[in-house]
Parts: sequence; C-alpha cells; structure tokens
Amino acid sequence: MPTKVEMEKIVSLCRRRGFIFPSSEIYGGLSSCWDYGPLGVELKQNIKQAWWRAVVQERDDMVGLDASILMHPQTWVASGHLEGFADPLVECKSCHLRWRHDDLEDNNCPACGGELTEPHLFNLMFKTSIGPIEEEANIVYLRPETAQGIFVNFQNVLNTTRKRLPFGIAQIGKAFRNEITTGNFIFRSREFEQMEIEFFVKPGTDKEWFNYWLEERLDWYVKLGIKKENLRLRQHTKRELAHYARECSDIDYLFPMGWAELEGIANRGDFDLVQHVKYSGKSLNYLDEETKEHIIPFIIEPSAGVDRSALAFLCDAYDEEPDKEEIRVLLHLHPTLAPIKVAVLPLSRREKLVAVAKKIYADLRPNWMIQYDDTQSIGRRYRRQDEIGTPLCVTVDFQSLEDEQVTIRERDTMNQIRVPISELRTTLTAKLSGEAFDTQPLWTTKG
Ligand code: ATP
Repeated sequence: MPTKVEMEKIVSLCRRRGFIFPSSEIYGGLSSCWDYGPLGVELKQNIKQAWWRAVVQERDDMVGLDASILMHPQTWVASGHLEGFADPLVECKSCHLRWRHDDLEDNNCPACGGELTEPHLFNLMFKTSIGPIEEEANIVYLRPETAQGIFVNFQNVLNTTRKRLPFGIAQIGKAFRNEITTGNFIFRSREFEQMEIEFFVKPGTDKEWFNYWLEERLDWYVKLGIKKENLRLRQHTKRELAHYARECSDIDYLFPMGWAELEGIANRGDFDLVQHVKYSGKSLNYLDEETKEHIIPFIIEPSAGVDRSALAFLCDAYDEEPDKEEIRVLLHLHPTLAPIKVAVLPLSRREKLVAVAKKIYADLRPNWMIQYDDTQSIGRRYRRQDEIGTPLCVTVDFQSLEDEQVTIRERDTMNQIRVPISELRTTLTAKLSGEAFDTQPLWTTKG
C-alpha cells in the first residue's frame, strides 16, 4: 500500500526544526520562494552529493559542468523558450486571481466561482538587464532550466575531454520560472534547483539509452530509501509531448497532494544541437571515427528537481509511532541523506561525562556532521534526534568512565549496543555506510 502523509505535518516539522522557512519571512514572505535552514541545507547538499556521486563520480562516461545562470539571450530564441515557454493564463474578473487555463476543470474561478477572462499567453522567464542602462538591447533572462548551459558547451567539453559517444554532461544549478500556479510547499516554486543530465548518443541507439536512464534514475530513488510503491513511471501522451521530445516519461512520486512529477526523462533527438547550430552559426557536430562521418548526436535528458526530491525524501521518511502516552515522530532518512549522522549525548551534565562526550564529539567531527546535546532528559534528546532523522546516537554514561565504552542507539529499531570508545569510529562507519545495510539493517522502509 502506498503511504501518504499530510503536507501540513511536513511543513510544520520543516519549520519547527529548521529545515525550510518561508523566504524573507520578517517582511511577510515572498510568494513561492523558500529558504533552507541549518538542517535543510544539509539535506539538500546530501541529495546533490548523492546524485553527483551516482551520475558523475562513479561513471566513466560522464563529466560535470557549472554554467552561468545568465546566458546570451539568443540561447532562448534558439531553445524556443522566448516563443514557446508560455502558459495560457486566465484572470478572474471578480477576485483577480490568476490561474493556468489548462489546470481548470471548467470556466469558473476555483477560488470564488467568478467569471474568467480569455486565456493570454504569459512568458515564464524572469527578465533582467545587464549593465547600468535598462534598455531592450541589454535584456537577459534568468535561466528557466540548466540544460541550455550544457548544450552550448557541448563542443567545449568534447574538445577538452576527448570523450567519445555515448557520454553525458551533468549539471546542478538554480533555475527560475515565473510560475503562475505555485504552491504545495517546495513542490513548485519560482526559484528552484535542478540536477540535469544531457546524455549524447549515436542516433539509432537513443531508444535503448532512454530505457536505460528510466531504470537507472528510478533505481536511484529506491536505493536512497523511497518506497517502490510510492514511485511510478508515466509515459507522456502524444498530446502533452513537448515540441522537442520524441518520447518522454515522468518519474512520479505519490506526494501528499497526489501523484506528481519528480523527474522528467526525455528523448530530445537532435533538436537542441540543431537549433544552436542554426542560431549560432557554429558547428556542433561529432566525428564518428568508425564511419568517418560528422553526425549530430541525439540527446537523452534525465532532469530532476533538488527541491522536489527533498520533499519526496521527507514525505517518504516521515513516520509516527505510538510511544507510551505520546507519539514518536521520526524521519527514516537514509543515512546518506540524514542532515546529522550522529548525536553525542552525555547522560547528565556532570563535568566528567561532559569532558568524555566533548572529546568524542571533537574526534568525530572531521568525519561527519555531528550534534552535541546535553539539555533535558535523554529520552527527549533521543526524540529530538529521531524527528530530524539522525540515524545514530552515542550516549556517554557513568559506566563509560569506568569501562571506556559507550552506547550506540539506532533510530529505527531503538536497539542499543555497547562499544569500546576506541572502536567507535569504525563501528559508526560500518553502520552508516551502505554496505552494512544488508547484514545489519540500520534503517527500515516501512509498508
Ligand atoms: P511541471 O509539469 O510540474 O511544471 P515541468 O515538466 O515543467 O514540471 P521540467 O521542465 O521537466 O518540469 O523540469 C524538470 C524538473 O525540474 C521537474 O521534474 C521538477 O523536479 C523540477 N521543476 C520544474 N519546475 C519546478 C518548479 N517550479 N519548482 C520546483 N521544481 C521544479
């Protein structure tokens, strides 16, 4: 059975514990912009690192890139964004709220039932200008996707890395869209981060690579703990297929508001490179050494959102368990993603205990994000760590002063084991590393 948690619970936990805050909150917030707090930024970094590791570090057919957000305006003419990146928008004649026309079931305002205007096209790109004088000639756009930075650097990467087909370029970065319908927390915001791959292949092998990437990407989410039943692949119908795409499938996640896109995987054919050749006048082709022919590669694009991934990981990890008279709220986050890996907790604030605990804390800090906490009862401190998904707590008690051993307490099972302080780092490493999961399941996926 797929599991669903209410969005309010996630929003509340994120706010309460410092994962995510509304942007510029002291001024009343800014619509659909969010700030990641001390724990949120760790979660986001961990997601990006896990992605980079899987798609760049551990592969020999992929390289990375970090292109600028502002690009030559011709880029957006070539890509079709200036012309086509527009949503039909309607406005309510009575309450003046704006809606995406294609989201509406009938011709009435969903908020007040009022009459709606005719749809108008509305470009989703944010405009700004370069230099001190604001005039038409200086207009540039905040990129609405990171992909174009990859396409325009195709030849640079090819020349400097000597990669042969098939190979890919991966990039993580901010993208901006002046979305009309926002909401659902960080699911759809106006400033967000993407993790995009453009994978260049020989025409004719595109279908095979498209299927390969579908599986590969689906697998990534599962390996990081998302329950299989909360993920699905959805093939785009002919009608919804973007103009550039030969084929497209979404990886959907069962978010609190229902199934929605987490990542899109598209077979873009040669559309992008052909367009950039046309508008830049530069050749962007590839010499096939076997046939001695110059070809334009086809592109498979797995395009994921960092923020949507963060939301999916949080929703999937959220759990509540009865705990005596109370409820234990916990995040079953995969250790790779958990913002804090280990909490070091002295049983009391007695000087001798604190000294040992602080030494352990200092020793472990170079390895992982560690928290030290000596406030309130040990039970409360465990709960606080459970709620932010910390996989392991290390407790220093009076016995530790005599036998030089500490207790490791596991988040999901609440099991406790005693280990010598001298073996602590090795034991924690084994428990936090992926390999240890099979033999010693540290985290559980429920359902
Ligand atoms: P949607 O149909 O939900 O608007 P899209 O099809 O326009 O999404 P793509 O252009 O395929 O999205 O972008 C790739 C990925 O970037 C999406 O799967 C999503 O994870 C992320 N993304 C796109 N728009 C937003 C947004 N406004 N807020 C957060 N993430 C986004």
